[in-house]
Amino acid sequence: MYNFHTYYITDEEPCLLNVDVADIQPSYPEQVKLSIGLHPWKVTEDWRDEVKTIRDAAQRTDVWAIGECGLDKVKGVELSVQLEAFRAHIALAEELQKPMLIHCVRAFDELLMLRRELEATCRQEGREPQPWVIHGFRGKPEQAKQVMTKGMLLSFGHQYNLETLRFVFTSSRPFYLETDDSRLSVLHIYEQVARHLDVDVSRLSRLCDPRKTLFARQNP
Ligand SMILES: [Zn+2]
Repeated sequence: MYNFHTYYITDEEPCLLNVDVADIQPSYPEQVKLSIGLHPWKVTEDWRDEVKTIRDAAQRTDVWAIGECGLDKVKGVELSVQLEAFRAHIALAEELQKPMLIHCVRAFDELLMLRRELEATCRQEGREPQPWVIHGFRGKPEQAKQVMTKGMLLSFGHQYNLETLRFVFTSSRPFYLETDDSRLSVLHIYEQVARHLDVDVSRLSRLCDPRKTLFARQNP
């Protein structure tokens, strides 16, 4: 059962481990792949130095995603600085051709604006933008619809809007499941979601595995 976003290696399940670039280890168990980026809460005026370090580390083949990064209007430095740092991550994801794992709190208008910008640039250059996955999504179905029509995907933790989860499930777009910063086992999340959607855990496990779809390029 794939754990799309975690801070801990708690079991043998495959996962995308979010690591601080300062703590990155030379190697990890085979089932562990990495996401690295500057969390919006950690963005300071010196974000450029941090992004430089992230850029070097993100070349590693076991780094599968850029993030988590993003925008937060409730916590962190002022939004203009967060936007600059986030734009640098978008550029990095495009340069390295790796998907983005996004944290977004009350900044969906800005997020949609940036996605439109990227899509316009990519259209001019005749290429596809990298997929963006919003993690820990708790929004209502309307908001899910809005971001999904812009080519973004969603990942759910143990708290979510049940109507949204059902909507995404029936939309036939991929979605992912995660433990985030909790110490819950990923099995717990899959069991809860399977119950809510009335499907088998094994079916859910196939459905929410990003390795053949989102990470097809990273996982040949
Ligand atoms: Zn987050």
